Amino acid sequence: MSDSLEEEIVSIRRHLHQYPELGFNEHLTSLYVADYLRKLGLHVRSGIAGTGVVALLDSGRPGPCIAVRADMDALPLQELTGLPYASLHEGVMHACGHDGHMAMVLGAARMLTEAKAQLSGSVKFIFQPAEEMLGGARHMIDAGVLESPRVDGIVGLHLWPDLPTGVFGAKSGTVMASMDHVDITVQGRAGHGAAPHQGVDAIIAAAQLLTALQVLVSRESDPSEPVVLSMGSIHGGSLPNIIADTVEMHGTVRAIDQGTRERMKRRVTGLAEMVSSGMNAKAEVKYEFGYPPTVNDAHLIDLAEETLSSLYGKTAIQHLPHSQMTSEDMAYYMEQIPGVFLLVGAGGKERGEYPLHHPQMTIDEKALGLGAVFLANFVSNYQERKQNC
Ligand SMILES: [Zn+2]
Ligand SMILES: [Zn+2]
Repeated sequence: MSDSLEEEIVSIRRHLHQYPELGFNEHLTSLYVADYLRKLGLHVRSGIAGTGVVALLDSGRPGPCIAVRADMDALPLQELTGLPYASLHEGVMHACGHDGHMAMVLGAARMLTEAKAQLSGSVKFIFQPAEEMLGGARHMIDAGVLESPRVDGIVGLHLWPDLPTGVFGAKSGTVMASMDHVDITVQGRAGHGAAPHQGVDAIIAAAQLLTALQVLVSRESDPSEPVVLSMGSIHGGSLPNIIADTVEMHGTVRAIDQGTRERMKRRVTGLAEMVSSGMNAKAEVKYEFGYPPTVNDAHLIDLAEETLSSLYGKTAIQHLPHSQMTSEDMAYYMEQIPGVFLLVGAGGKERGEYPLHHPQMTIDEKALGLGAVFLANFVSNYQERKQNC
C-alpha cells in the first residue's frame, strides 16, 4: 500500500472520529461514506435501513459476490482522550472503533477499485447503521442487502485494543457470544418503613433474587461452557422510610451455545417467579433473544489465516483460546451466508491502556492500513479461490 493511501485512511478515520453519530442517526457519516464511494466510481445506494450505504464494485466478469462490512455508529459517551481530533459532538464518541472500521473498508474499496482489472465477480461494500444494541445488520438484511447480486460470503473486522498492533485475533467456530436481554420487575406492596409486616418489600425480594440468579452460572452451568449473566441496572424505592413496592432490574446474558441460551431463559424466568413468590412478591420477566453467536465459517477462517500469513507472516495470527463474550450483529449476516470476523490488534506495542467503550479508549492508527490491506487481499484471494472450484 502506498504511503499516501495509508495517510488517507488515517485522515478518513480522524474525520469520522470528530463527527460521531448514534445508531440510526449516522446522517453525516452516511453522506461522507457514500460520497467517497461515488468518487471511486462505484454504484452506490444510500438510505438503506435509514442511514445504511451499499456500494457495488462489478468487475464485469462472471464470478462470486463477496461483501465487506463496516458499522458506522458511535456510543453515547463524553470523549476524554484529549486528542486533537477528539469528538466535536457533545456526549457522543467513537469508542468502539467503528470510525476505524469504516476507514479500513473505504481504503480496501479504493485498493480493489484500482485493481479492478484483476478481479472477477463483484464486491459489495456494506456500511450499516446501529451495531450497538440496535441490530442494524438485521434491518440491512431485511432491506435486501444480501440480494441482487446474491452475496456468497462476507468478511468483517473489529479493531481490538486488547491485542498488540500487527496481530490479528482469529478463532475457528464461535468467535463471539450471543447477547440476550432480561428485564425483571419485582412487584411488592408499599407500606410504612416502621411497619414492614403490613407491606411486601420489593427491595428485599429483589436482593434475594439477585443473589439466587448467580447460581445459574456458578452452580448450574457446566464449567467448560462459557455463559455470563450480568444485571447491570437495578432501581427501586423512593424514600428511606417507605417500603418499596417495585424494583426493576435489567441485565444481559451471553452464551455461545443455543441450548445454553434456552436453558438460561427458562431458569432466569422460573427463578425470578419462584424466589419472588417465596417472598410474597411477584415477578414479571421479559426475556428476549438478541444477537446470535458469531460463528466463523471453517473455509473462510482458513482463507483468512492463509491471507494473513502470506501478508504479514504466521506470527501475525493469534489463535484466540476461547470465544469472546462480547457480541456483534455481524452474526446476523453470518447466519445467512458463510462469513469470517477477525479482531485487528490496535493496542500499540502490547495492549491499549483503555478497553473498547471507555471514554479514553484510543486505537493505534497503524492497525488501519494493516486491516485495509488484509481486506483487499482477502477479497481477491476469495474471488480467485471461488473461480477455481
Ligand atoms: Zn461496541
Ligand atoms: Zn463495535
